Amino acid sequence: MGMDRMAGAAVIDGKRFAAGLLETISVDVARLKDETGNVPGLAVVLLGADPASAVYVGSKHRQTVAAGMRSFKYELPEETTEDELMTLIGRLNADPEVHGILVQLPLPAHIDAGAVIQGINPDKDVDGFHISNAGRLATGQPALVPCTPLGCLMLLKDRLGADLSGLHAVVIGKSNIVGKPMAQLLLSENCTVTTVHSRSRNTPELCRMADILIAAAGRPGLVRGDWIKPGAVVVDVGINRVERDGKSRIVGDVAFEEARHAGAITPVPGGVGPMTIACLLSNTLTAFRRQHPVKAD
Ligand code: NAD
Repeated sequence: MGMDRMAGAAVIDGKRFAAGLLETISVDVARLKDETGNVPGLAVVLLGADPASAVYVGSKHRQTVAAGMRSFKYELPEETTEDELMTLIGRLNADPEVHGILVQLPLPAHIDAGAVIQGINPDKDVDGFHISNAGRLATGQPALVPCTPLGCLMLLKDRLGADLSGLHAVVIGKSNIVGKPMAQLLLSENCTVTTVHSRSRNTPELCRMADILIAAAGRPGLVRGDWIKPGAVVVDVGINRVERDGKSRIVGDVAFEEARHAGAITPVPGGVGPMTIACLLSNTLTAFRRQHPVKAD
């Protein structure tokens, strides 16, 4: 569903899938409002005036409202202290109208981002970065899962069906926000999982074994055609700004034109990117439901 073809590989339309997911979320939110009189609320906290972060926060705010949820936006000055930020997070943790909390990264250098993330109530940690959520994911307990890997998994299941068991998945990258949770999610789906990273020795050979290849290295064009097994499903998480023909463009980690023999591939832009905000709202809905379990009659 939702695919064009690029002479060979199917191109997975993440934008269309994300729009469908947002539509489903809006319907669920409207139903919850009827049933409970309450809607999920998402608080987004931004420090400073980084232009890219401001764009992300603006877009998260608009889509939260469009889905029928409440959006609480906190735009604080760059010089906000860690204590002040922690005080705000403490307030949001205790606020029953706030079901999800997201602190936009990166934070200014004078703030310990790790400490701030650990200060968020794990049940409201819709980014899924809290150590408790990482631990829950790794041990198979209900977790809030980081949005980007969650979006990748949804696209994979849409393409390959719900059962991924036994497939060999190779994940390029081992960051805490993409690579590691992606590998854990695929393990929980009973894939055979290999993680490769900048110190791996035989990355192209390992990638060629993949039925599912996830590229999350942040290196433009790293994955060449001969790294891809014919028929593999390739998910390109990379977002890299490059200068081409005097123009600034966004490209992924995969040399897209060389991937014609893949079974399917996500384009950049328009693949994984649009899924991330949709999954943020999906996580906010999940957090709301866990905070308001439906009582059996
Ligand atoms: P990161 O820099 O924290 O981690 C990159 C990982 O890639 C590291 O583990 C590193 O070992 C590995 N790596 C680097 N060079 C490599 C190489 N030559 N071979 C093999 N592995 C290599 O980055 P991140 O935060 O995980 O993000 C990765 C990419 O995904 C970036 O381009 C980022 O912009 C993008 N991203 C996209 C979304 C989205 O919404 N689509 C969300 C988050 C991140």
